Amino acid sequence: MMNLEAKLTEHFTLKEMVASQNHPDIYNVPAPAQIENLRRVCQWLEDLRRLYNERYGGPGADLPINVSSGYRSYKLNNKVGGARDSNHLMGCAADLVCRDCAQAVQYAALLMKISVDRGAWDEIIIEKKFNHFWLHFAVRPQTLPNRCKVTVIEKR
Ligand SMILES: [Zn+2]
Repeated sequence: MMNLEAKLTEHFTLKEMVASQNHPDIYNVPAPAQIENLRRVCQWLEDLRRLYNERYGGPGADLPINVSSGYRSYKLNNKVGGARDSNHLMGCAADLVCRDCAQAVQYAALLMKISVDRGAWDEIIIEKKFNHFWLHFAVRPQTLPNRCKVTVIEKR
């Protein structure tokens, strides 16, 4: 039995990295290798959280980074219309909720700064649907290509 309250890093739990707001009924249980991939993503998100608060949060700020989607089983990925080869399937991606376009760009810029220390990422995608923005961030294990892709997608 998975311990969903387990912390992958200081501020990110396994629970939020496997949750599905719209489809809580769908089986979505990662394997150990996928959990390790989620942990790698969360290490970047910890850096992002710290840098974002330092840069944009004001004195004593402790603003969270909100994840709307992390790991997805094939079934969940199909249900939400994810790409066939989505990084979410391996636990290598997280979607970060953004207040607006500016915040998505700020996250993207900070993730690129973090890569100076952590190495290559695979995807940074600023996505917009109706008036909602989110940033898809993916980093893979070193055994796979990390392509440093940057894309903007408007969904309809
Ligand atoms: Zn995504």
